[in-house]
Amino acid sequence: MRDAEIIAVGSELLTHDKLDTNSLFVTEQLNTLGVEVRRKLVVGDDRVRLEAAIRHALGHADIVVLTGGLGPTEDDLTRDATAAALGRKLIFSEEICEWIAERFRKFNRTMAEINKRQAYLVEGAEPLPNPRGTAPGQWIVSGDRVIVMLPGPPGELKPLVVNEMIPRLQKMLPPLAIRTRFYRVAGMGESDLDALIAPVYTKVENPATTILAGMGDIQIHLRARAATAEEAERLLEQVAPQIEELLGDRLYSRNGDTLETVVGKMLRERGATLSVAESCTGGMIGERITNVAGSSDYFVGGFLTYSDEMKVRLLGVDPALIAERTAVSAEVARAMAEGARARTCSTYALSITGEAGPESATGIPAGTLFLGFASEAGSEARKINVPGDRNRVRMLGAQSALDFARKQIR
Ligand code: ATP
Ligand code: MG
Repeated sequence: MRDAEIIAVGSELLTHDKLDTNSLFVTEQLNTLGVEVRRKLVVGDDRVRLEAAIRHALGHADIVVLTGGLGPTEDDLTRDATAAALGRKLIFSEEICEWIAERFRKFNRTMAEINKRQAYLVEGAEPLPNPRGTAPGQWIVSGDRVIVMLPGPPGELKPLVVNEMIPRLQKMLPPLAIRTRFYRVAGMGESDLDALIAPVYTKVENPATTILAGMGDIQIHLRARAATAEEAERLLEQVAPQIEELLGDRLYSRNGDTLETVVGKMLRERGATLSVAESCTGGMIGERITNVAGSSDYFVGGFLTYSDEMKVRLLGVDPALIAERTAVSAEVARAMAEGARARTCSTYALSITGEAGPESATGIPAGTLFLGFASEAGSEARKINVPGDRNRVRMLGAQSALDFARKQIR
């Protein structure tokens, strides 16, 4: 009783002018009840196709949600198509007609004849009051299926979903508790990660595991469903600790926090401060750190030293070192971090220098990056090689640098 399909109705949704956002909202709301949307589709204002789509959905899903096409015009076909798919009649409701007429009177307008179309209910349907528009939604039970018709305008649809559809579904569905874990991992590719943890998560269906890979950042969602919260938690505990152990220190967040948030929390806990010295990332690291509200508690500032000369003048890097090693080197990465730390008096300093590409100015291959980190105990550097275009190299550079800082601070 927890499979749903959504049909968004409207030819405009098939053009590039208009996105179907209603289904996203409906999905989010259904998920809170543990209802999974198994399929969704967009159908134009086409009576035959719409009826076929509704029949198909009724053949597969317990809950079918239709959005749009409840207006008064010829191209608003959802009522007709739903009635036909169910083999039911459309029945005129005096009560709804009066309600619509009253709404027009309230705005000092007279109701047009075509608005009467909105007063038709599918035989046996319960109208769902729509305080923001003329067309009511409709709630139809057919055997063990539920069909819900909702108006297209998002401002009308949302209150109907929250106030009418969800409470009705909640009453029908057996109780369900959902417990989740939201892990984030850096420093590893998607396929390596999957090879590592698949033996654990593929053994069980509940919790369900989803892996989302972004640039240098992988999210792992575990979702356990059970009759009680305790049972859902127990199901999670059967896999979560094993996954955590396999990921080890590559796991940087257990609650979905971003890397910059995690680094910020670590600094705050230690009463420590951080500065940055950036070359190839051009300020991306500082941007990410300062994106976090309250980062002024621990972030003191940074240096954007793109040229060799600025590395010398602002950070005090020895020109002889650059001449000997080039600016893209472990030695210069360390000297940049040391320079930033000395000049800002921060507890720690993080640096990055590298070849973002596509051309190489130093002869060193594009994607070669050096990360530096300085603390009271001295300085460290790491070399990394990042594949991809300039944008990707810079994004992964910033991500790797923040992850390097996280590991060094700990
Ligand atoms: P109306 O009485 O306004 O005609 P309706 O139920 O017939 O309501 P539509 O005609 O399909 O709904 O759409 C009305 C408005 O809502 C349009 O501006 C449309 O772009 C928007 N809309 C419809 N469906 C969606 C959707 N799935 N996502 C976002 N916006 C939508
Ligand atoms: Mg319409």
